[in-house]
Amino acid sequence: MHLNNIRIVLVNTSHPGNIGASARAIKNMGISKLYLVAPKDYPSGVAVGRASSALDILDNAVLCDDLKEAIADCSLVIGTSARSRRIPWPMVTPDKCAELLIEEGQQHNVALVFGREDRGLSNEELQLCHYHVQIAANPEYSSLNLGAAVMVLSHEIYKLSQHLEEENQEVEQAWDNELATVAEVETYLKNLEQLMTQIDFHDPENPRHLMPRLRRLYNRIRPDKMEINILHGIVSETQKKLNKK
Ligand code: SAH
Repeated sequence: MHLNNIRIVLVNTSHPGNIGASARAIKNMGISKLYLVAPKDYPSGVAVGRASSALDILDNAVLCDDLKEAIADCSLVIGTSARSRRIPWPMVTPDKCAELLIEEGQQHNVALVFGREDRGLSNEELQLCHYHVQIAANPEYSSLNLGAAVMVLSHEIYKLSQHLEEENQEVEQAWDNELATVAEVETYLKNLEQLMTQIDFHDPENPRHLMPRLRRLYNRIRPDKMEINILHGIVSETQKKLNKK
C-alpha cells in the first residue's frame, strides 16, 4: 500500500500561505507530490513559513501553466467543489474519493485537484475531472479554507491507507505456515493407508469408506505444511519400527 502516485494539484492559488499549509497537510498525511498550476504569488517566504518542516514538498513541487499539463499523465482525476455546478457530474464522498485514489494509485498516476480561494475551479477545469468530491459542511457556509480542504481530504486518504495496511498485516500474520498442497496430503494419506493395513486396522479388501472419511477429515482441517510433516514423520517412524521386528 503506497501513496506515491497520488498528486495534490492546487490551481491558481492566490495566497502563498495556503500553498505552505497544503504542503504541510499533505506531508502530515503521507502524501508527497504537490503540483502548482500558475500560482499567483510564488515562490514566497510566506509559503516557506507555513510549510514548516514540509519544505521538501515545496522544493519538489512541480510548477505547471495549466491544469491539463498537471494531469496529462494521470488516469484518474478527482476535482473538489464546494457547491453544486450547472451540469451535474458524478459525485463521490470524501471516503469514496480516498478509496478510488488509493486503489487506482497503486498502478497509475492519480490527481486530486483544488481550486482558487475566491472562485474554486472553473466549469472547464471541473469537466476535465472524472469525479467531483464535496466535503459535507454547514449548508449556510460550506466553503472551507483551501488548506483546510486539502487537510480533510488528505486525512481521508491517510486513514484509509492505514486501515488497509492493518488489514494486510492481519492477513499475513493470520498463519505462520503455508497450507499443505493436495499432493502433500495425498502422499501422507498413502503412507497412512499402508501403515493402517500393516497393523490390520484397515482391510483394503473391505475398506468401508475409511479412506474417504479420513480424506474428508484432513480436507476439513486443511493442515499446513508443518502439520502434515509432523503427521508424516509419525507414520514413517512407526513403519520403520514395525519393519525392524
Ligand atoms: N467560492 C469557491 C470556494 C473556494 S474554496 C467556490 O464556490 O467554489 C477553495 C477551494 O477549497 C475549492 O476550490 C476547493 O478546492 C476547496 N474546498 C473548499 N470547500 C470545499 C468543500 N466543502 N468541498 C470540497 N472542496 C472544498
